[in-house]
Amino acid sequence: MNALPPKAAPPEQPQSLYADRVRVYPRAVKGPVRRAKWAVLVGLLALYYATPWIRWDRGPGLPDQAVLVDMHAPRIFLFWIEIWPQEIYFLTGLLVLGAVGLFAVTSLFGRVWCGFTCPQTVWTDLFLWVERRIEGDRNTRMKRDAGPRDAAWWRRKILKHAAWIGIALATGGAWVFYFTDAPTTLVRLLTLQADPATYFFVGLFTATTYLLAGWAREQVCTYMCPWPRFQAAMLDKDSLVVTYRDWRGEPRGKPDGAHGDCVACHACVHVCPTGIDIRDGQQLECIGCGLCIDACDEVMAKLGRPKGLIAFETLCNLAASQAATRGMPPGEARTAAGMAARRAPRFLRPRTLVYAGVLSAVAVVMLAAFLLRETLSLTAIQDRAPLYVTLSDGSVRNAYTLRITNKRHASEEFRLAVDSPLPLAVAVQGQEGPPRLVSRPDGLSDARVFLTLPPDPPGGRRDGEVTFRLLDAAGRTVASAHAQFHGGRR
Ligand code: SF4
Ligand code: SF4
Repeated sequence: MNALPPKAAPPEQPQSLYADRVRVYPRAVKGPVRRAKWAVLVGLLALYYATPWIRWDRGPGLPDQAVLVDMHAPRIFLFWIEIWPQEIYFLTGLLVLGAVGLFAVTSLFGRVWCGFTCPQTVWTDLFLWVERRIEGDRNTRMKRDAGPRDAAWWRRKILKHAAWIGIALATGGAWVFYFTDAPTTLVRLLTLQADPATYFFVGLFTATTYLLAGWAREQVCTYMCPWPRFQAAMLDKDSLVVTYRDWRGEPRGKPDGAHGDCVACHACVHVCPTGIDIRDGQQLECIGCGLCIDACDEVMAKLGRPKGLIAFETLCNLAASQAATRGMPPGEARTAAGMAARRAPRFLRPRTLVYAGVLSAVAVVMLAAFLLRETLSLTAIQDRAPLYVTLSDGSVRNAYTLRITNKRHASEEFRLAVDSPLPLAVAVQGQEGPPRLVSRPDGLSDARVFLTLPPDPPGGRRDGEVTFRLLDAAGRTVASAHAQFHGGRR
């Protein structure tokens, strides 16, 4: 009898690396953290939308917008401060300050930037608020989305998206006001007289706001933003992070005395904007918004138990409470023992001191650079082709362009002095008599200057250094520039 051939193993299915998005329906919550988040949200949005409308008188011929990145000037105006293109290092310094400041705040308070002040969080919060006003809170929205797509469903969706696009448009519109005069640009936008680039950027920022805050939401934090990936390097066991006190909450179950304080109501999960369960421990998706704290405190208050089952806590304290309560049965005594084992957060640690040191050093350098910055400078650019010209009488002439950068708001006239070991004659193109240069206000002024060496200079020296100096009416040097004189060979 022939044996049956062995059954072929089913072909192995390749493992999918793609997972469908699980839609998050965050529930509204009330409490101190939520109130703090509303306050931050309103403050930041007001700052963002109102800043371009603040006026600042700088005198005639200059923009009167307090904060303006003027691409035509080109200059950045920040109230009384003006940053010229050659001073862009101030912006680099500000970015360094911002980055180190963020490191310091993260090492002290965890992801407060993500949870409270990041634009993605602020606008997503605003969009969620609009969504709740139009479509209802979590349960209503879930029920409606699972139900029939009737006229009412479509009406609500259309209304919500129209409101989102309105906010996104205001956001994109406000952004361009930082780059051009706000009142003029608003009129031009509304009368369709703005240039195409303005419409392009309004459209771009409208689209990104609508897509990121309305559609992508928590996915920006989880998949697109690099910050959650490397913030772990800034956190340590003394950083304050949103934490579930498992030593107090476990085992979860009914409030019957045999279980811990967590009654497995999932309120903390339902309010979470990223849809995670903080009881699973620290997670990359947790933005540290603290809304689960408010949700759980609400439940604890109803049960008559102490608040703070979820709290801003250090991992060091969490470990101390776990150790102090190991083996203890659930109840008030366990809660008291766990809380007693905690210690006050340590804000002064090597890591935070290093951040504070770097922050202070950068701030001092920037302040010194700002206070000592020149408002008037002189640059000498020598003609290279030809480097020198031999005139018919044997004398040698070099030509230079002298550029005055005048950051002051008034025109000034200066006497030009030239220092050199060579006996050079000075002439400014188009001028007779003693050489003088005039700077125009708020800008660059160029002048052509010629230095001439006689045919037979004493000592036969033909090359040497030259210093151009601008002298004010009192004879003081206000700016200078160095160059070379080339006399060639005889
Ligand atoms: S809200 Fe509090 S009690 Fe409810 S599941 Fe979350 S941790 Fe447990
Ligand atoms: S787990 Fe809590 S703190 Fe973290 S994102 Fe969710 S609600 Fe915010």
